[in-house]
Amino acid sequence: MGELDFQKHVQYIVSVEKKKDSFEALVMEHLRMNGAYWGLTTLDLLHSIDVVDKEEVISWMMSCWDADSGGFAGTVGHDPHLLYTLSAVQILALFDRLDVLDIDKLSSYVVGLQNEDGSFSGDGWGEIDTRFSYLAICCLSLLRCLDKINVVKAVEYIVSCKNLDGGFGCVPGGESHAGQIFCCVGALSITGSLHHVDRDLLGWWLCERQCRDGGLNGRPEKLADVCYSWWVLSSLIMIDRVHWIDKSKLTEFILNCQDRENGGISDRPDNAVDIFHTYFGVAGLSLMEYPGLKPIDPAYALPINVVNRIFFGKS
Ligand SMILES: [Zn+2]
Repeated sequence: MGELDFQKHVQYIVSVEKKKDSFEALVMEHLRMNGAYWGLTTLDLLHSIDVVDKEEVISWMMSCWDADSGGFAGTVGHDPHLLYTLSAVQILALFDRLDVLDIDKLSSYVVGLQNEDGSFSGDGWGEIDTRFSYLAICCLSLLRCLDKINVVKAVEYIVSCKNLDGGFGCVPGGESHAGQIFCCVGALSITGSLHHVDRDLLGWWLCERQCRDGGLNGRPEKLADVCYSWWVLSSLIMIDRVHWIDKSKLTEFILNCQDRENGGISDRPDNAVDIFHTYFGVAGLSLMEYPGLKPIDPAYALPINVVNRIFFGKS
């Protein structure tokens, strides 16, 4: 088994940022805020965040802020959405620059997306999904204003999306899926409500996601994919069942998805790399305490030192 190529991955992330005019950059444009979060968090886990010009990133980010609604868009001139709003808050948390935000305005935007039944819409268009519950709860918690929403109802809604297999779906009755489980378990963890989770039942469902090749899939009968290393592992850690999977086989699977020549990590061995899977691969290795990586918090998806700085004033 090879090792994690720290230097190549840093070079890959920097090169993606420079390729703003490529076709890939064009089709991914609406996701630029998420891409920035994936790239910057990976750089920080690799102890290399100083290779970027923070002030330049912050001034671009603030040009994606919609002062009317209070939310962030994925890129300049697009509509705001919770997805991009959390990424923006996470990036500013990484930089220790939450002070540039109009926290009242931003938190009012998030609060305004909570519905009567406790669920959240992702934006003004109204689509409902437990992913949005996580985004809203994580965002408000990082801004220290979780008390502005109805937390009891938000938790009740998430619990209403729990299935008989112990997992969670996007709406009540929706099929269990690892990405959705991360969002629900993460939101329950942040709100101190993990007693609603059946840890053994859910832990069993999650550890059954490990495939013969060592990688993890998102639901039964699907192929293993590096991104599930994050969603499954972080959930297992939050419910204290991570020892139920074979960490060395998963580590080997992720390391085999590296592009040894140009850096970056793909969804499965020999596929093309992208920034999304590079983040989830490195974050997954961090959750497994891979030597030399910064440890990442499984609920906030930020380095632990950043989370400690926000909640305990120390790094
Ligand atoms: Zn994937």
